[in-house]
Amino acid sequence: MSDAESPSNPTLTPDAQTDDFEAVEVFPDSTDMDLRPGADNCYKCTACDVSCPVAEVDDEFPGPKFQGPEQWRLKRKEDEAVDDSIMSCSNCMRCDDACPSGVPLSQMHNTARGEYVDEEMDKLSREYIRNRILANYGTLAQLGGMFPRLANAVMGNSVVQRINEKVLGITAERDFPEFATQTFREWWNERGGPQVRSEEKRVAYFHGCYSNYNTPEVGKAMVRVFESFGYEVVVPKQRCSGTPMFANGMLDDAKRAAGINVDNFAGLIPEGYDIIASCTSCSMSLRQEYPELFDIDGIEDLSAHTYEALEYLRIHEDLEDAVREASVDDQAFAYHAPCHGRNQGLDRQAVELFRQLDGVEIEDVGDSCSGISGTYGWKEEKYDKSMQIAADMFDHMEHAQGSVGMTECPTCSMQMEHGTGYDIKHPLQLLEEALV
Ligand code: SF4
Ligand code: SF4
Repeated sequence: MSDAESPSNPTLTPDAQTDDFEAVEVFPDSTDMDLRPGADNCYKCTACDVSCPVAEVDDEFPGPKFQGPEQWRLKRKEDEAVDDSIMSCSNCMRCDDACPSGVPLSQMHNTARGEYVDEEMDKLSREYIRNRILANYGTLAQLGGMFPRLANAVMGNSVVQRINEKVLGITAERDFPEFATQTFREWWNERGGPQVRSEEKRVAYFHGCYSNYNTPEVGKAMVRVFESFGYEVVVPKQRCSGTPMFANGMLDDAKRAAGINVDNFAGLIPEGYDIIASCTSCSMSLRQEYPELFDIDGIEDLSAHTYEALEYLRIHEDLEDAVREASVDDQAFAYHAPCHGRNQGLDRQAVELFRQLDGVEIEDVGDSCSGISGTYGWKEEKYDKSMQIAADMFDHMEHAQGSVGMTECPTCSMQMEHGTGYDIKHPLQLLEEALV
């Protein structure tokens, strides 16, 4: 060890040697987290930058290393505001997965984005209003779900789409997702709730906004598949998981939603329920972002008991055996693993499972990001970049044998359909077809 590294370095004054170390607050408004130790782990390997799909197509985006550890260093100077480029991070979280040193990149990005929106953004600006609307899709969907036919006619009208683009900055290039004429929760209530009761096998379903308002067939498949394995399924009241709110820096909205979700789900855990999500961004949010960003009673317990649906069945049932003994009519799929599923280590499970299902051909279309990242690809100024990011995925889909797509993420599903015109299925729908 050199003198400079020695704890008894004689060049240091006695005061400097004995002074208590004072932790520097990274983001001073945050009372319950100190991201300094994680940031200090960065050794500038740039693996995160190389993995970032936005940095690849946007020359002005400085990349995750800057948004995370470097921004933290800048913020040590008190007068340093969060850089506005944080709003171009799509929150795909691929950089988290890429970092070999455990730097909590997405936690830093989410926290910095929240601070930027709170302190720097004009609350009357078009960008803020647009982002607030996109971040609160659940509220919009609640209205759309009350009058689905009218909402579909209005939102599907090309004049309305052009006005949305001009006034709000929501791209007119995409078709707005249709609202189902019966929501998942309406179906659930109509059938009288759980059809199976069990003391041993119990799950609480987090359906999220999209399965409730837009694709109730995914929620129905989840219920029927789990009931076929003897599970009691309950469906507590819930709010948006917060995913689009994190991505737009609306942390107060996300905290309110998280508070309701934690209250309604964590209390079921002592009664033997685990929490199951059919959307990989919802399970990601409950598992990782909630405990990283909020201090709410029961949040750690909720995180530890949350699973993605297929993952849960793989752990607790002999799912492979059940699938091996089943068969479906011949069909071929082009499967895309969502970034948030990849982050939970779930990127291969659908492909490996369904390769054993008689009648099914399934091909993984590679590890690229779909580019839509929730609300990112809905923003007028990001639309072209979103499509550039997705170019590899579209290309691989078109070269795959199947002409039906498959993914667990509702917005990846929108992008896959938008770029190829394919129908897209959720793995739970194929599982329902095979097993129920
Ligand atoms: S979350 Fe995604 S878009 Fe944001 S910095 Fe990380 S890799 Fe890039
Ligand atoms: S991957 Fe991790 S260690 Fe490497 S530059 Fe990025 S934050 Fe630093």
